[in-house]
Amino acid sequence: MVDILIAIAIGVTIFWVTRRILIMLATPPPEVDPDEIIEVEHHYRCSTCGTELIVTAASPTENDPPKHCREEMTLTWRGGS
Ligand SMILES: [Zn+2]
Repeated sequence: MVDILIAIAIGVTIFWVTRRILIMLATPPPEVDPDEIIEVEHHYRCSTCGTELIVTAASPTENDPPKHCREEMTLTWRGGS
């Protein structure tokens, strides 16, 4: 009897976690108002392969550096605001 209850609990947990993951993946990120985009000049470099990237416009709500080679890029120079 206890085995059945444990199996049901595991099943419900797997179902709930899978459902939450699918809802998270299916939800698009919030739309950004184009008027809120800030002009910046951020130079990034990938520490793995050396690729360099210049960001000229950024969202005020997104401050994470871009990723390359599955790693966050290193900020090498920051201009603008
Ligand atoms: Zn890279």
